[in-house]
Amino acid sequence: MAGLILRTVTKRFADAAAPAVDAVSLDVAHGEFLAILGPSGCGKTTLLRLVAGFERPGAGEIRLGDRLVADGRTHVPPEDRHVGIVFQSYALWPHMTVGENVGYPLRTRGVRGAEYRSRVAAALDVVGLGSAVDRRPASLSGGQRQRVALARCLAMAPDLVLLDEPLANLDVHLKASLLDEFQEFRARTGATMLYITHDQSEAMALADRIAVMNQGRVEQVAAPETLYHAPATAFVADFIGRGGVVAATVPQRADQGRALIEIAGHRAFVRAVPEQAAGRALVCLRPEDLALADDGLPARCRRARYQGGEWLVDVTVEGQEGRPLQLLAKPGTVPEPGTPVRVRISDGWVIPG
Ligand code: ADP
Ligand code: MG
Repeated sequence: MAGLILRTVTKRFADAAAPAVDAVSLDVAHGEFLAILGPSGCGKTTLLRLVAGFERPGAGEIRLGDRLVADGRTHVPPEDRHVGIVFQSYALWPHMTVGENVGYPLRTRGVRGAEYRSRVAAALDVVGLGSAVDRRPASLSGGQRQRVALARCLAMAPDLVLLDEPLANLDVHLKASLLDEFQEFRARTGATMLYITHDQSEAMALADRIAVMNQGRVEQVAAPETLYHAPATAFVADFIGRGGVVAATVPQRADQGRALIEIAGHRAFVRAVPEQAAGRALVCLRPEDLALADDGLPARCRRARYQGGEWLVDVTVEGQEGRPLQLLAKPGTVPEPGTPVRVRISDGWVIPG
C-alpha cells in the first residue's frame, strides 16, 4: 500500500507573486520517514497543511493510502484523513493533565471507558511518559511536553504522522536526546512520517529520504548520502552539508561516471552522471575532497574556525571569490586569513543541473 502520493500539487495564496507550493510531486512509501528540508519561507508548512487538509490545492492531487483526498473537485476534511500532526509549539491544554491532553482527541471522537484508558496509557508508554499521566504540562520540561504532543498524536493511531519542526524550540542537548527517541519511536510504530525541518542535521539523522525544497519547488528527493555526495542542483549542494561549489570546464564527455575537470589550468578527476557532456559546469566540492598541497590550485584563505579536533578553513579559488570552498586542516597547519594557499582536489561531483 502506498503511504502518500502528491501529484503536481500547487498552492498560490491570494495576491502572492509566486505559488507557496509549486507543482510538487512526491511518493512516500508506507512506513517511510521522509523529511522535507528547506529554508524558512520555502513552503514546507503550506505543503503539510495541504496534506492535512487545512488548505486546498489550486491544482494537482493528493492521495493517502488508496484514497484520493484532494484534487480539483474532492476535498476530504482534516478530521476524515486519519492524519496526526505535531507542531513546533506543543499546543497542550494547561488546565488538563498529561493523560487528559493525550486523550482529548479520542474523547471528541466518542472513545470512552477501558478502550480510552488503554489507548492513552499505550501512547504515553511509547514516549516513555507512562508515569506522568496525572501531571500538568507546566510541571514538565520542554522535551517532555513535546513527547506528550507526540503521544496525543499517536493515540489516534494515524496512518500518517506530520511533524512540523517539532524540535525547533528545544536546546541543542535536548534536541540530540529527542533525535534518539524519535528513532526508537519510529521503529516501534512503523507509521509513515513526514517530518518538516529547516535543520539539515535533523533531517540527515532521521530520514530514510529527504526532499529538499526551494521557493515552493522540490529540487531533489534522495537518501541523505546521495544528497551529500551527488546533489542534483547548486542549491542542494549549498544547502546540504559543508563545502561549496565552483565553476569548471569539463573538457570531454564523462567516462563511466568519472569526469575530468579543469579550473584555472589545474586538472582533476571527479564523479559525474554517466551522460555528463563536455562544457562549462558547476562542481560540488566537500571538505574531504580538498587538501592543502604545494602543487595544488592557487587559492586564498578567507577564515578558519576551530571545530574541535580540526579547523574548518574557508578558501576561494582565484577569479571565483564569490564561491567559498571549505577544507579541513589539522592544528598547526592552518593558514592565516588573507594568505595565498594551494588546494588539491581529490574528488568531487559535477552538478548535472
Ligand atoms: P515554511 O514553512 O517553509 O517556512 P510557509 O509554508 O510557511 O514556509 O510559507 C511559504 C510562503 O507562503 C511564504 O512566502 C509565506 O509568507 C506564504 N504564506 C504562508 N501562509 C500564508 C497565508 N495563509 N496567506 C498568505 N501567504 C502565506
Ligand atoms: Mg513552517
